[in-house]
Amino acid sequence: MNSWASVAIPPLQKAFRVPPLRIFDTAAQKISEVEVKPLYRMYICGITPYDATHLGHANTYLAFDLLHRYLLATGAKVKFVENITDIDDPLLERANRDGIDWRDLAASQIDLFRSDMVALHVLPPDHYIGAVDAIDLVVQAISKLELAGSVYKIDNDLYFKVHSDTKFGSRSHLSQDQMLKIFSERGGDPDRAGKQDPLDALLWLAQRPGEPGWESKYGIGRPGWHIECCAIALNYLDIDPTFSTSIDFQGGGSDLIFPHHEMSAAQSKVMNNKEFASHYVHAGMIGLDGEKMSKSKGNLVFVSQLLREGVDAMVIRTALLRHHYRSDHMWQNSELDEASAFLDELRLCLSRPDVAPTDQIISEIIAALSQDLNTPIALAALQNWITATNEGKSGGDAGELSRAIDALLGIAI
Ligand code: ZN
Repeated sequence: MNSWASVAIPPLQKAFRVPPLRIFDTAAQKISEVEVKPLYRMYICGITPYDATHLGHANTYLAFDLLHRYLLATGAKVKFVENITDIDDPLLERANRDGIDWRDLAASQIDLFRSDMVALHVLPPDHYIGAVDAIDLVVQAISKLELAGSVYKIDNDLYFKVHSDTKFGSRSHLSQDQMLKIFSERGGDPDRAGKQDPLDALLWLAQRPGEPGWESKYGIGRPGWHIECCAIALNYLDIDPTFSTSIDFQGGGSDLIFPHHEMSAAQSKVMNNKEFASHYVHAGMIGLDGEKMSKSKGNLVFVSQLLREGVDAMVIRTALLRHHYRSDHMWQNSELDEASAFLDELRLCLSRPDVAPTDQIISEIIAALSQDLNTPIALAALQNWITATNEGKSGGDAGELSRAIDALLGIAI
């Protein structure tokens, strides 16, 4: 699968101190300092391509884009892999409902997603991998789990024994009742007859009538969702066996904490005998009209629709960055007007021959981002700089601040 076009990051002329990142870790349940390293491995869960890209998606991918940009600003390299779940129940259901081929639906939505990511200045992954392209990797991963004694069969479907990972549940911190409830709400099948534990996760689904399937040593079928991400991450991120965890960051929206990320982490743990990620990072949910923005509720605001209406992609980006990435919030269309007014003012100030001093504001943006990617504080600091410039303060370097805003916040001026 092709990734999207690269986004240039302008280099700063001066060296600013970039402190180690502190970020909230869902497994640790606290803000932790990220170890300073020359190379980070980051895996972000991508979309199921049937309703790309609503503002909830955009919020998630912007959060990890900020993380990516901050890590680069520390001078490190970042290996970044993202998947596309281009075969799954919801995709097939939507294609059936709309009377179109699931492959055509997926292809059109993936194209839309890629163009939205380019418009929003999201740095592309090094590998953008579809489930369909990863069938062999999934089969290899299931074989490893089988060798570890963690797989069993019901009819011709294969399941993962979640408790073969002794740390199962340690990343999501939910009670058994909460896990069961969420598992069944998010595609799980706790009541299926023959399961050893109701939470055991589907690894391989034997082909059903009228559904696609791929040949494998386990018969014709298709991969489960959790093993897909686990297999892609472990293969494409070039895991270093000497490290204590497989990767540095596992990321996605907070609706993926359970079961998806817990299951992927448990499967990876059994396969590699070490924790999957050093940090589990999750973005908040965006709602509309009092409810979470989701496909099932149909209350989606699409990035492509806003762009078609003539909204500047940088206004959308700024509007989302005005909220902290972890905060759940209700979207209001008036946020676009507020973000637009802010950007107009910022651009006007940056076009002036004399601007307020810029070294300190750049350091303030870096400091805000270092504390759990605190974009509201970074943007408030910029607002103060606008005020200072409007008051006639001078001596700054507008070009340098433009470059810093672009490099760190991804807002092209
Ligand atoms: Zn995933």
